[in-house]
Amino acid sequence: MKEKFMKFMQGRYGADQLNMFLSYLNLILIVVTVFTRLQWIYSLVLALIIFQNFRMFSRNISKRYEENQKFLKLTAPIRRFFTRTKRNAKDKDYKYIKCEKCKQELRVPTKKGKIKVTCKKCKHSFQVRT
Ligand SMILES: [Zn+2]
Repeated sequence: MKEKFMKFMQGRYGADQLNMFLSYLNLILIVVTVFTRLQWIYSLVLALIIFQNFRMFSRNISKRYEENQKFLKLTAPIRRFFTRTKRNAKDKDYKYIKCEKCKQELRVPTKKGKIKVTCKKCKHSFQVRT
């Protein structure tokens, strides 16, 4: 059975971040449907399941890959925001700032008052309040 499935999936696209996102979105929508019983959300859930399966079993791998790249590019700012928030919450002794000149991200200690920072990339020096 497993072998048969492996053979079936050969040359097909499979799962990616976009499909993972669609799965989570669907779970949320299903919960919403249970509470609201809105017909159009139910239809949307079905459409998403069909779309997801179509992508997973698709043989047009380059096209699906392209879709996923577009999705990743579109959601990059959101994902960056969450990574930063998580990191800042974990790392209370440091904060992250951007170099005034080249926008390179720099890590500086917190609660040290006004300090002089030298960018490790462009060597530009500037003061920051920490
Ligand atoms: Zn710099």
